[in-house]
Amino acid sequence: MLTPKFEHLVKQLQVLPGVGQKSAQRMALHLLSKKRPQGVSLAQALETAMCDIKECSRCHSFSDDDICPICADVRRSDSELCVVESAADVMAIEQSGAFRGRYFVLGGHLSPIDGINADDLHIDELIIRLKNSAIDELILATGATVEGQTTAFFISDAARPFVGKITRLAQGIPMGGELEFVDSLTLHQALQNRAFI
Ligand SMILES: [Zn+2]
Repeated sequence: MLTPKFEHLVKQLQVLPGVGQKSAQRMALHLLSKKRPQGVSLAQALETAMCDIKECSRCHSFSDDDICPICADVRRSDSELCVVESAADVMAIEQSGAFRGRYFVLGGHLSPIDGINADDLHIDELIIRLKNSAIDELILATGATVEGQTTAFFISDAARPFVGKITRLAQGIPMGGELEFVDSLTLHQALQNRAFI
């Protein structure tokens, strides 16, 4: 029952993260047998997204236009700039609803071992932006990994002459986390970053 066109579809579906041969086959069969119109909509949505979604020229997050909705929103604060590694991080912070400033997406983190240096990220552009605008606080929201920390330290050194306040996201116990299951490095950070209640 496997035709060349079916096999091609199964192969293409495997480009998605976490989708192997079996899941791809299940998806293809599901679309073909029960959801053909939706499958056509899916194909059209994929084509539109792949062709039309680009990088925001101001923050490097994803955008349908030259400037993304967050950069274009006049109700957001220009005085706080949150630096993240990827557009996925922007989405995560936006979903928290805790931040109303602007973002800047680096496009990754420093990782000399993988050949990713400052020139490969948008760090020069970030520093130029800090020089030319009145930003009160730079929030470094890179990952809590060795590379994320290294990237944050590198940027804080370069940014210090141009911005008064540079902060880093707090690290510690996750919500709902029991202390006995938290690793000692996280617990160490949580104790160092403890706050008044
Ligand atoms: Zn933007």
